[in-house]
Amino acid sequence: METAALPLVTARPAILDQPAESLRAWLAERGQPPLRLKQIRRWLVSGRAESFEQMSDLPRELRAQLTAAFEPLGTHVAIHQAARDGTHKLLLRLPDGGQVECVLIQDETRRTACISTQVGCGMGCVFCASGLNGVERNLTGGEIVEQLVRLRNLLPANERLTNIVVMGMGEPLANLDNLLTALEDAGDKNGLGIGARHVTISTVGLPAKIRQLADTGKQHHLAVSLHAPNDRLRTQIVPTNDKIGLAAILDAADYFFKMTGRQVTFEYVLLGGLNDHWTHARELGGLLEGRKAHVNLIPFNEVEGLPYRRPDDESLAGFVQQLQRAGVSVKVRKRKGSEIDAACGQLRRRAAAS
Ligand code: SAH
Repeated sequence: METAALPLVTARPAILDQPAESLRAWLAERGQPPLRLKQIRRWLVSGRAESFEQMSDLPRELRAQLTAAFEPLGTHVAIHQAARDGTHKLLLRLPDGGQVECVLIQDETRRTACISTQVGCGMGCVFCASGLNGVERNLTGGEIVEQLVRLRNLLPANERLTNIVVMGMGEPLANLDNLLTALEDAGDKNGLGIGARHVTISTVGLPAKIRQLADTGKQHHLAVSLHAPNDRLRTQIVPTNDKIGLAAILDAADYFFKMTGRQVTFEYVLLGGLNDHWTHARELGGLLEGRKAHVNLIPFNEVEGLPYRRPDDESLAGFVQQLQRAGVSVKVRKRKGSEIDAACGQLRRRAAAS
């Protein structure tokens, strides 16, 4: 299923992005009590309202005033794709015309939202579709929350989102303040109610920001994208490694574990013929020795126009076996929604090309 919506670019600001004080002042100017703010938020975040008109316990005049002044949701669904396995992907158009992707992944009991934090990405990982044109801007806290709201609104009324993975477009730790604001909001028990323990933040590996995240004292789960067992190969695949290096990243990951007690996951995208040899696995095993680490292997999702390929079954099996032999806990990521461009950045790219 695929639906294209109107290419709307609006001038009205999104209400989820307004600071609470200025909204209270706006309401007071119209003779409305501060309680209205709670009602509006409840309608949007728990009540699944997508217009102010639906907010039936607000005075009619206020609903009209709100409609004239704000957008209930500032994003518009430009494309909605649904796969047979229950995966949904949305391409959202932002008020300034930028576009981001988010995905709903459904397992037996889990309802996971995969969200973006930036328009584009500045990290330049050579195999990734999100960063091919660099980064345009950070998403605001409200824009991050809206992705959750939009995905949740796809679920039946008796279901809620259970997990968040920050693995969409962008480098989450390059927009950490807005991300933390959004996650605080997502954790609100009277709202979406998704606590830090159910949130995984995936980073290319920015040591100072990993430490800052650890210092928040929150129980987020951290995933670090390694993709190579040595600096020479990593810099080839992840150019930002040039100024950072694996040692500093692993130090920061150890600090995160020490501060939060949460085991760090290391992600490793397998690129056929480039980083998928069993000797790379052996080197990776050595690197992680003595660490309580978990490795998530991600067979490359092909991106049109890029010269990389998936690993063959034999290399994948050999890689897994070698890591297991080194005592490393390892899993191969299941492919979800493969018929709908679910790898990050691909849908936006296709929409831009058409
Ligand atoms: N900037 C963050 C989030 C990126 S998306 C980070 O680097 O971790 C989450 C994961 O998907 C990352 O490990 C990223 O490298 C990986 N990824 C991106 N494009 C991919 C592709 N085409 N195939 C497989 N994995 C990909």
